[in-house]
Amino acid sequence: MIPASATIRVQLRVRGVVQGVGFRPYVYKLARHHSLAGFVLNSPRGVFIEIEGDPATVEAFVAALPAEAPPLVRIAEVVRSEIPAVGDSGFSIHESDAAGSAFALVPPDICVCEDCLAESRDPSNRRHDYPFTNCTNCGPRYSIILDVPYDRPMTTMAEFAMCDDCLHEYNDPENRRFHAQPNACPVCGPRLILHDPAESGPDTAEAPQQTARAIIERVADLLRLGKIVAWKGLGGYQLACDARQPAAVEELRRRKRRSEKPFAIMVADADVAASLCFVSEQERSVLMSRERPIVLLRRRPAPNLGAPLADAVSPGNPATGVMLPCTPMHDLLFRIIRERWATDAALVMTSGNISEEPIVIDNSEAEEHLAGIADAFAHHNRRIHTRVDDSVVRVVSGETMLLRRARGYAPQPVWLGRGEAEVLACGAQQKNTLCLTRAGFALPSQHLGDLENFETLRFFEETLERMSRLFHVKPTVVAHDLHPGYLSTQFAQKMDGLRRIAVQHHHAHIASCMAEHQLEGRVIGVAWDGTGFGTDGTIWGGEFLAADYLSFDRFARLRPVLLAGGDSGVREPWRVARSYLLDTFGAIPDGPRWTQMASPERLRVIDTMLQRRVSTIPTSSAGRLFDAIASLIGLRHTVSFEGQAGMMLEAAADAPPDPSAGSCDFALIGASPVEIDLRPMIRQIVGDVESNQPQTQIAVRFHNTLVAVIAAVCRRMRSELQLNRVCLSGGCFQNALLLAGCLETLRNEGFEVFSQLEVPANDGGISLGQAAIACEQLRQEN
Ligand SMILES: [Zn+2]
Ligand SMILES: [Zn+2]
Ligand SMILES: [Zn+2]
Repeated sequence: MIPASATIRVQLRVRGVVQGVGFRPYVYKLARHHSLAGFVLNSPRGVFIEIEGDPATVEAFVAALPAEAPPLVRIAEVVRSEIPAVGDSGFSIHESDAAGSAFALVPPDICVCEDCLAESRDPSNRRHDYPFTNCTNCGPRYSIILDVPYDRPMTTMAEFAMCDDCLHEYNDPENRRFHAQPNACPVCGPRLILHDPAESGPDTAEAPQQTARAIIERVADLLRLGKIVAWKGLGGYQLACDARQPAAVEELRRRKRRSEKPFAIMVADADVAASLCFVSEQERSVLMSRERPIVLLRRRPAPNLGAPLADAVSPGNPATGVMLPCTPMHDLLFRIIRERWATDAALVMTSGNISEEPIVIDNSEAEEHLAGIADAFAHHNRRIHTRVDDSVVRVVSGETMLLRRARGYAPQPVWLGRGEAEVLACGAQQKNTLCLTRAGFALPSQHLGDLENFETLRFFEETLERMSRLFHVKPTVVAHDLHPGYLSTQFAQKMDGLRRIAVQHHHAHIASCMAEHQLEGRVIGVAWDGTGFGTDGTIWGGEFLAADYLSFDRFARLRPVLLAGGDSGVREPWRVARSYLLDTFGAIPDGPRWTQMASPERLRVIDTMLQRRVSTIPTSSAGRLFDAIASLIGLRHTVSFEGQAGMMLEAAADAPPDPSAGSCDFALIGASPVEIDLRPMIRQIVGDVESNQPQTQIAVRFHNTLVAVIAAVCRRMRSELQLNRVCLSGGCFQNALLLAGCLETLRNEGFEVFSQLEVPANDGGISLGQAAIACEQLRQEN
């Protein structure tokens, strides 16, 4: 026992997101508050704190350290050691120790904080109406940081020299802007630049300098007139128009070449959101969270305030993605709209890109790529270094689930703790992300997009290059999908001198879920998605795996059906509907509704391919099963984007999970793998369709059947394999009915159930799983 009066000294090494987030001034103030001596120091291996004082006070400091940390701080690990007291007096912030190879976790871009917002709204403040107001607790980070250590010269703010007032704030440990690297004001900081071809002609982009307010007033007027404005947000350009003017929204769809995929909207605050959509308490807090994502909300049949949203905002979809202003610039726009136009404005706010290309980030790129889309441009002269699109989330069963992980979340690390290996994981094809590992952390990139065009591949390469530099990672191993046709696989195969580890797609889904929940040992993995290359060369997607990081057994799968024309059939759900009909009945049933699915010629071609097994590939995909049912019940025979049929089927069910609606029959046949035979369900659904049962009822029973199937297989795996933890992953679990139904049913039966929260359940989460698998394999070898 140390006598209470003795002085002790403790060293703490803190790892996590602790640099550039106001952590050192926080430690300084906390130590002074407790009258402890010592210092705090940034180093490549984390933040080092040494504190000296009486034991009780030291303990109080250690306990308060994580508990009272500033909002952007994320502590992953604190390593404590007792060291001899040295008799320090006072506490100080030491200069960064730049020795050794630098590695620091970089915080994401964070929405404007309340303090900065209040300043930018206050007419007497020197930052009144200033669109780039920020402080240590808020503002751009990941999108503007070029390298670490995170200091102003290493950001795109380097070109702006701070004025005396800003510099004073920056150097004062008691100030909210102490070491706030993007600190700026109207005197010294970035400014807006309006380019309105209608007014100034294309050659006068360098028009006389206007105030931010004057420029945003012009933007508001253009939006009111039904025009489309491209403006530079936090992580890239956004395209805005009035969401209540059908002509404006339809014109944006036409110019953007986007037929049906929903547009997100932005409104001034959570109350306006609640006038348009049903907003639960949790959804409200996610809307207002500092990540400020797009939140998928169910629209009210008629808004409580103002005119309805144009149908073209989210055609045929009962949900709309809604977000709130995330920068002082967005806030200023809504304040001006309030003054001049409407209190309840709703603006379409969609990514500034053409079709599926990456979001545009620089001024000349915007003028070039968005020329055919935007009527005017609001640029600014703070460079965006890293493209980061808006994030998309959905609240299901009380959990916030990420559908697209980008601004506000990336590059937040996931603590793997599986050795120090430096790995690059290339992800899959759809909704691609990549993932790097360093010092026990996995660093999943922001959403990159579908790796189907040159532009997205370039974005992939650009992100790899920038993240490798930023995190000082030199991968020695590259993990990739088994699919030989994925550009991500081909990219991995071209990386000379790196060891390659190929990872089966659904194994990666399950490992991704395990990694974010830090699960060890073997689990029941339910991996349901649209497409993944199997170890047998067929397309998997309705899989039950007994898995750990190193290996998996395919315990069960959906009974395979043939996919005519392979992956190209994905846009035509009727093709897989024909396949299910043929598999169930041996022939297509009689009746007009089965001959109306496509033109007679197309039907004949596809039926013949299926019957003769020519140009077909077997698939156990659950995503294709959703497609088939959507077509069979007449909801949708063709789609314009992947997953649309499943989305519409969920919408058709139009209800929370309801087990009392009953479910259809199915059979579990054989072993290794067990075959899940859904032909009894198809027979029942065809019967329901022929007897004109409502679509809603069929859709509800279909979802219930899937939940029953998953529960039945999990029970069998529990009894045969003595496993009780279930990981749910794969794109199908973005479906709230399926996810909520499985969570509830399995938990009621005593299973421990895990779903994906930190990375998406869709293929955006694959790279994390690949990284975890590769790291574990390397650890086992050492
Ligand atoms: Zn702030
Ligand atoms: Zn200034
Ligand atoms: Zn997948």
